[in-house]
Amino acid sequence: MPHTPISARTDATLDPSDWDAFRALAHRMVDDSLDFLRTLPDRPAWTPLPSAVRVALVTEGVPHAPQGESQVYDEFLAHVLPYTNGSRSPRFFGWVQGNGTPLGMMADMLAAGMNPHMAGFNDAPRLVEERVIAWLAELMGLPATSGGLLMSGGTMANYLGLAVARHAGAGYDVRTLGALGGPRLTVYASSETHSWAQKCVELLGLGSVSLRKVPVDDAFRVDVAAMRAMISADRAEGLRPICVIGTAGTVNSGATDDLSALADLAAAEHCWFHVDGAFGALARLSPALAPLVRGIERADSLALDLHKWGFLPFEIACVLVRDAEAQRAAFSLTPSYLRDEGRGVIAGGLTFAERGPELTRGFKALKAWMSFKAHGVDGIAAIIEQNVQQARAFAERIAPVPGIELSAPVSLNIACWRWVPTGFTGDQCDALNRELLLRIQETGLAVPSGSMVHGRYVIRTCITNHRTRWADLERFADGIAPLARAIEAEMRA
Ligand SMILES: *Cc1c(COP(=O)(O)O)cnc(C)c1O
Repeated sequence: MPHTPISARTDATLDPSDWDAFRALAHRMVDDSLDFLRTLPDRPAWTPLPSAVRVALVTEGVPHAPQGESQVYDEFLAHVLPYTNGSRSPRFFGWVQGNGTPLGMMADMLAAGMNPHMAGFNDAPRLVEERVIAWLAELMGLPATSGGLLMSGGTMANYLGLAVARHAGAGYDVRTLGALGGPRLTVYASSETHSWAQKCVELLGLGSVSLRKVPVDDAFRVDVAAMRAMISADRAEGLRPICVIGTAGTVNSGATDDLSALADLAAAEHCWFHVDGAFGALARLSPALAPLVRGIERADSLALDLHKWGFLPFEIACVLVRDAEAQRAAFSLTPSYLRDEGRGVIAGGLTFAERGPELTRGFKALKAWMSFKAHGVDGIAAIIEQNVQQARAFAERIAPVPGIELSAPVSLNIACWRWVPTGFTGDQCDALNRELLLRIQETGLAVPSGSMVHGRYVIRTCITNHRTRWADLERFADGIAPLARAIEAEMRA
């Protein structure tokens, strides 16, 4: 195509050249998306990428010439839409992932249409994010004066909490001098803590040696006495313990540390108390489940994911910080081009940019604001309770099946189990269950994930899924034995 000469009067834009045609296409996009969501129960939990689709996706060169909106949309329908990891399916039970909601999808569209710059200008979207943070602080039992910030995910929300802890606890100006400006700073967390903790101490310049991994008890809860002993030993060595990390809902088994005991320990040791509540914190929305995460309200900082048990589309998480000023002190930096003029568009300062590392941020808050209001926090809590009941009932449903063994108590919404044929060694069982997991996924029956419990490979069924109905769990439960027996027979042959 010949290159059109560009001038000041070319008046090129990326808005549609034909708004009516684009409107028709946009309506089709919404209709197709909703049709897909509505028919999820009848679809396989996971559909592997056909090789032709894979080839098409990995070989296309830079699309210099315009192809047009409707053509690229047709390609999206054929090559992209059907092929996710399955997390929107009612039979998705892998890792810890939410499903998204139709309302959340629309809210993300509305947010992108508005496209506000969420450094925190003098506008309505800023007030919406402030409201969402304030609601979450109240729901988690933190004071109304708490600070916070919406983040992309639990990893980043935890990172922010730990960054504030480092700044507050270093005992010297860590922003100026960096992590080597004083004694080695150490943080304490159970061996069941999610891998974010190691990534974050590395990112913060503390080094992974500074993350002290504390053993857990039989119920996978941190051994508080052991943590206390490790803190004393490190202090005696001249190190500076700065942070105690507790988990509400571990990723492996859903266990929750004794958060009250950890809060007491942190207070006695003058340490910051950070809680990773990525999904478990949301249990506090349900009065019936709240006692499971007692003590969470004593956190100095708390990370929670709304794209897991809040069911919102990726990405959205929140960090809450009890001392709002401590959060600002860790990040605030105002160059002249961002100065608060007291009036106009920038009045009030760039509140959100002052609370974390990011400047330009998207309007993630809208989907949370709309979802909380439309479904009610009680409506969301009811699904969380339903998921916990489902995990317990699923474990009871499969426990009597000859061959199945439950691997850990169901403390929240996660059932870990494995197929154990008589006469198989531990290693043979591991091999069988690895294969069983893959067949469960590849046949489209369901998408659980794998993990290790007490050194053995287990299949992990984690229900953070507002679409799961009992019939989905029965279908999954009934589908296990035929697949497992087939593998068992192959291995015996
Ligand atoms: C998922 C998870 C994280 C990490 O959150 P992302 O949103 O995936 O970044 C941290 N801790 C726990 C307990 C989790 O389940």
